[in-house]
Amino acid sequence: METLIIKGNIISAAEFGELEITENGYLIAENGKIKGIYQELPREYEESKVEDYGDALVMQSFADMHLHAPQYPMLGMGMDMPLLEWLNTYTFPTEACFKDQDFARRAYHRLARELAAKGTTRVCMFSSIHREATLILMEELENAGITGYVGKVNMDRNGGVNYQETTEESISETVKWLERCNFEHIKPMITPRFTPSCSNELMQELGRIAKEKNLPIQSHLSENTGELDMVKKLHPDCAQYWETYQKYGLWNDRTLMAHCVWSDDRERKAIKDAGVWAVHCAASNENLVSGYAPVRVMVNEGVNVVLGSDIAGGDHLSMFKNITAAIRASKARRILDDWKTEFLSVEEAFYLGTSAAAPFFGEKPGFAPGNALHALVLEDFSLPSVRPLSVRERFGRAIYRREHGGIRAVYSEGKKIFSK
Ligand SMILES: [Zn+2]
Repeated sequence: METLIIKGNIISAAEFGELEITENGYLIAENGKIKGIYQELPREYEESKVEDYGDALVMQSFADMHLHAPQYPMLGMGMDMPLLEWLNTYTFPTEACFKDQDFARRAYHRLARELAAKGTTRVCMFSSIHREATLILMEELENAGITGYVGKVNMDRNGGVNYQETTEESISETVKWLERCNFEHIKPMITPRFTPSCSNELMQELGRIAKEKNLPIQSHLSENTGELDMVKKLHPDCAQYWETYQKYGLWNDRTLMAHCVWSDDRERKAIKDAGVWAVHCAASNENLVSGYAPVRVMVNEGVNVVLGSDIAGGDHLSMFKNITAAIRASKARRILDDWKTEFLSVEEAFYLGTSAAAPFFGEKPGFAPGNALHALVLEDFSLPSVRPLSVRERFGRAIYRREHGGIRAVYSEGKKIFSK
């Protein structure tokens, strides 16, 4: 039995909008699974080693449910165009570089380490169209202790120079890639880039493979108005964008759809009824001038909403920054809605960046017993204040502001994957 005992101010989002705080408490895991949170150390553990972080904050680590690994080298660049021009001008040429396996190894090694250091321990990630680079990405994530899903991207139309597959290649490369996905913590996910990039034949085949191999699916939905027009022209038989995925068996309760900025009542109902997951990527939506997704409305309607950094449309890997971006976007939405819709509180947005994704990974919200232990330890001792702050106040500040190097340790699946 491997026992891990972390001592500190334990903070988790057990329910949407509700924090559970145990000051100077003990978070205990056995064989990587959470046993419980205790105010006093149970007698049976008296002889065990305690990782004592003193007055630090011990909180859930993050799930980044939508990001593009091969866009990592262009993070912070190309922020002067809307989506479709941005893809052709910056993104496709950058992703095409991942044909080079040495380049892929270097970039993905760094990306995986940076995710761990920033407290992101679960991901659902797009790779490029390249089979080998996708396997390298999975290996680097696995080695860094990150868990979750990665998809080799499929695209057989509307790509860039040197960045498009034939339909046959796209299918056969996907099948060959799947045969080699034997990682413990990083699993494959079917990844049609988005409807404009995938022919009907390819979509059909991907739906078939997902069903046959029981794989989850990720793609993009209703991000930008230019994209909506394009989809309408490509699928005149579909009344709405989501139907282009549903038609080919790519629309179910293990489907992640990034953005949903322009999803109207009918589309949001289809998302909810199918149990599809809407991945809100606020920073990206603002950077690419896509729009402000009705994030709080979706939550209220019972849609499964989770958060994504969507790098490099998003400009930050840190989920702290993506959480605050989501809060700001929800406030912009409120202003645009004549103050009729609610905005997200800090607790609520933290829940979306952590616990909301738990069911996707077969777990319960918060530090629930039985969950794999995913946590980060944050120090904030050098930040100024005029009076002693409560743990709740320190948590709220930490979401917006952290001291340099404040993340002291990160745990994934009960293992320490980062420390300083
Ligand atoms: Zn994306």
